[in-house]
This record gives sequence, structure tokens and C-alpha cells, in this order.
Amino acid sequence: MELEFLGTGAGVPAKHRNVTSIALRLLDERNAVWLFDCGEGTQMQILHSTIRPRKIEKIFITHLHGDHIYGLPGLISSRSFQGGDTPLEIYGPKGIKAYIQTVLRISQTKVSYPLHFFEIEEEGILFKDQQFEVSCLPLDHGIDSFGYRIVEASHQGELQVQALLELGLKPGPVFGRLKKVK
Ligand SMILES: [Zn+2]
Repeated sequence: MELEFLGTGAGVPAKHRNVTSIALRLLDERNAVWLFDCGEGTQMQILHSTIRPRKIEKIFITHLHGDHIYGLPGLISSRSFQGGDTPLEIYGPKGIKAYIQTVLRISQTKVSYPLHFFEIEEEGILFKDQQFEVSCLPLDHGIDSFGYRIVEASHQGELQVQALLELGLKPGPVFGRLKKVK
């Protein structure tokens, strides 16, 4: 799990600091990337990274100010051009769906993959599977805003088999018992 800052600026892009977008790289965990906000120019920032747009599985938008969403339609469109065929989930405050659908309709953009919207109106759990749980909490920013919390499920550590063999242990049920020791 790795965080990559694609932009940490606010308001307008600066030459050496783009507007907001943060990538949570979960390539080892689920062969996917999650994005948090997608300000204008995020696509260009992605080009300077090793992130593949088709690997972006979920996008979480904190709020609908332009510096957090003006990059989203372009990224959605490019993900399609670049062969993305897996679904993309977009989470954000009420209005995010109308914003994207309006831009795609007016620009006559066809997207080659399913686009799912989850509009948030209150705190709660947004997503949960065996690996991760994502919940949100309202923030105070003058417009509906949400912070996101990602919790990874606890899992068993890796058993260092070679080290156990060197200690003279023989493979068998004891290995399983050792693996469960916290
Ligand atoms: Zn704002």
C-alpha cells in the first residue's frame, strides 16, 4: 500500500504543484489504484507516474469545488480510450453524478466501461469487502464535504518457512499453529 501525491495545491494549479489528487496504490493488495479527488491536470500528473488509468477502480471526491473535480471528466474519458473495461466507482457528495453525466452528454463522450456513482449524504460505511472498509465523515468546508477513512482488515503474517526449517522444525500442523500466533 502506497500513497502517491499527484497534487497537493488548492484553488489554481501552480507550475510545480498541481491541484488536489492523491492516489492510493493497492497494486499488491488488489491490483488497483484508488484516487482521492481529481483536480484539473490530474491526467498529466498520472502520466508522470507509473499509474495506469485502467487500474483505477474507485475515485473518492471530497467535495465539489472545481479544484477537486475539474480533472474528472477527462480522466474518465481517457480511461475509456486506453482500453479500460472494468467498472469504475465514483463516490462523492450529491451532485457528482449530474456533473459527470452532463459533461459526458454534452461532449458526446461514450465510455466503454460501467460507471457507478455513489452519492453521499451522511456519514457511514461506503464500501466493505474482505480486504478493506471505507467510511466517511462530514467535514466543515462551506460546501458538502466528506473525509474518507480506509481500514485494512487484519490478516495473518507471512510464515518464514526457511527460518523454521533452519530451526529444525518439520512442516506440518505446527506451521499452521505458528502462523496463527499474534
Ligand atoms: Zn474546497
